[in-house]
Amino acid sequence: MQEAIEGWKRAGIATAAIAVSSCLAVAVWAQVAGRPSEEARGAAVSSGGVSVNRDAGVWHFTRQGAAPDSLRSLIIFPAGRVDPRSYAPLAHAAARRGHRAYIIESPRRTLFGGVKAEGLNLRIARVLQANARAGGWLLVGYGGGGASASTLAAFAPAGMAGVVLIGSEHPRDIDLSSVPVPVALIAGTRDGLTRTDDIAKAQARLPSHARLIWIEGGNHSQFAWHGYRPGDRTASIAGADQRTQTTNAVLAMLLTSTSLPAFAATEVATPAGLTSATQQELAELRSRIVIPVRGIVRTDLRDTFAEPRGQRLHEAIDILAPRGTPVLAATDGRVLKLFDSKAGGLMVYATDMSERFILLYGHLDDYADGISDGMQLERGQVIGYVGTTGNAPPGTPHLHFGILRGQPAASWSRGIAVNPYPLLF
Ligand SMILES: [Zn+2]
Repeated sequence: MQEAIEGWKRAGIATAAIAVSSCLAVAVWAQVAGRPSEEARGAAVSSGGVSVNRDAGVWHFTRQGAAPDSLRSLIIFPAGRVDPRSYAPLAHAAARRGHRAYIIESPRRTLFGGVKAEGLNLRIARVLQANARAGGWLLVGYGGGGASASTLAAFAPAGMAGVVLIGSEHPRDIDLSSVPVPVALIAGTRDGLTRTDDIAKAQARLPSHARLIWIEGGNHSQFAWHGYRPGDRTASIAGADQRTQTTNAVLAMLLTSTSLPAFAATEVATPAGLTSATQQELAELRSRIVIPVRGIVRTDLRDTFAEPRGQRLHEAIDILAPRGTPVLAATDGRVLKLFDSKAGGLMVYATDMSERFILLYGHLDDYADGISDGMQLERGQVIGYVGTTGNAPPGTPHLHFGILRGQPAASWSRGIAVNPYPLLF
């Protein structure tokens, strides 16, 4: 960890300074336009169980009480000349879910517009050191802040678990094609400050597994919680909609189950013989999965994957529905085991078609007629009924739905948890 930070500090200085200096031309206008909205200012103070502190150029957002160490942290780099509070709602949302979130202010600019890179690197180093033992961290760079995120990502320091570039033409001159963690580039189809061909160039510098997420009708200004930025185009979707889509994409990345192998080896003990799901595998699963409760639509779902349950994390989602509502096979596959567990009650363990994932359905009121170990399942087939068996509160019937990346042929119950929410949403 220490070595990675030192190495990065030495080499990162020149690149960060060059990248940020190009923002000078729009600096004066943008300073006014980059003021945080009312909502952003509200999220930049402690509220709703989240503590917000600013210390030596870094904003800290943490959930009051115990923040689970195993959860990934979020590190946000603001766009040039944008008040860091303009990203507070994203940081606040992550902290509410138990993640530590940081916004790193760019230090004051020098006469020629470059940031004092030494100061920036010191801030980054402090945040990384504070998170050396936590569940890794996701870098998010907005606009010109993509330069800092990319510079850091190029060194792939231990603990790095993902990179998201938002409304940004970066990594520009930095080659991130071999970065071994999930990478996403979020772009607006009506972004007036990041040209489409710049996005294409940026994509060419990213690994082949990087996801390019287009927000239809989204512009540049609406990615964050501030006013219209000069030179931008008019969006054709509401600002709240664009920011929600962006926030959800970032929160989903916080929960993906892959992280740098170096980190997984030293900080998170991966059970012997198990591997994390790749982005490709998750994408395939996502394309084949349905919501496993009849009548439930995406907007009914809540992401409860990272909520604490006693000493552990939930690592599943709870889908609320009236008792007796049919529970459906979420994918084609086969039944691995019908199991009566103390906590999960009547459960179905099933595998998907690829035999990579284990899907588990808990708290069933009853099984569907004819369901038995080993039988083939068709997606959408009724396998049981929503109930409260096991430790579910009697007044709150729900389906406990979990997904594990495992080796179903070898074990019907062991695997590394994958968040079902972003796959279903
Ligand atoms: Zn549950």
